[in-house]
Amino acid sequence: MKTALICGISGQDGAYLAELLLNKGYAVCGTSRDAQMSSFGNLKRLGIYDRVKLQSMSLTDFRSVLQVLTQVKPDEVYNLAGQSSVGLSFEQPVETLDSIARGTLNLLEAIRFTGAKIKFYNAGSSECFGDTHGDPADENTPFRPRSPYAVAKSAAFWEVANYREAYGLFACSGILFNHESPLRPSRFVTQKIVRGACAIAAGTEDKLYLGDISVRRDWGWAPEYVEAMYLMLQQEEAEDYAIATGETSSLQDFVKTAFECVGLNWEDCVETDKSLYRPTDIAVGRANPAKAKQKLGWEAKFKMPDVVRMMVEAQRDRME
Ligand code: NDP
Repeated sequence: MKTALICGISGQDGAYLAELLLNKGYAVCGTSRDAQMSSFGNLKRLGIYDRVKLQSMSLTDFRSVLQVLTQVKPDEVYNLAGQSSVGLSFEQPVETLDSIARGTLNLLEAIRFTGAKIKFYNAGSSECFGDTHGDPADENTPFRPRSPYAVAKSAAFWEVANYREAYGLFACSGILFNHESPLRPSRFVTQKIVRGACAIAAGTEDKLYLGDISVRRDWGWAPEYVEAMYLMLQQEEAEDYAIATGETSSLQDFVKTAFECVGLNWEDCVETDKSLYRPTDIAVGRANPAKAKQKLGWEAKFKMPDVVRMMVEAQRDRME
């Protein structure tokens, strides 16, 4: 039986990945900054809370990282922890850089220090590409980060590449484009839109206030994206992969689809709030996930309208 260590198991991806690996027969251990205090609501929602082992670990504390690695003795480590909101990174740039760039370095260094044959996955981000002016980004596209979050993710990406080249670690980054699910916290705009549309349809709210809805992104379905993470660690060679649906839509299309799902016209319900605009943003995020299809055999089945529909259905079920 293989053992997997999921750093950041309480989050959206951590919970889905834990479910996937349990179904594949892995022993799954997960970390949270404070496992005593964390409610692990996502693990409970998926019904797997009792099937995973939970530990406290702070990625920014090398001792803590080393201790967990030594105790758990994992075959595979998935680093999904760290400050994950682009918007919040403008307000907490140091925390963002520390938790992502220093956190990833601590994990890599601890793996190198133990000398154990551990396969390492790092959660990279399409935010690293910045504005490609509509050109589809792939594994060879240069990084031009436009937020403290993207700067931190870019640093972590190169740390992983360096440890792979310098020390021969099996370490890779998945450069994931946006992926959503009912487990997304409402701080993220997609969930905010879904919850807003359902609340307005139910008559408990009147308006939904949003920032710039002209931005365009590639949105996929999170449970599919964790499969790509797993597949990357099953390859002969450690390599980086861009993971996306390959289809880009505007946030306005996302909003329109969500309101259509609840039988409303978005234009009657949505107002612009300029205070929600980011200091710098990416106008268009577009992806070329051809390498993942060719080498991993991975392809997204669900596109933006499916994602919206499934999130709205889940939210309505919750409200009932
Ligand atoms: P979540 O925010 O749902 O989960 C991240 C986890 O990291 C949390 O559960 C939390 O665990 C931990 N965490 C949060 N803030 C900090 C912090 N300041 N310092 C240390 N740990 C922290 O993220 P997702 O599951 O959506 O994403 C997983 C990873 O993938 C993240 O690294 C994210 O940046 C990246 N990513 C996500 C994308 C997406 O569309 N979802 C796209 C591209 C990349 P706890 O509170 O228990 O310690």
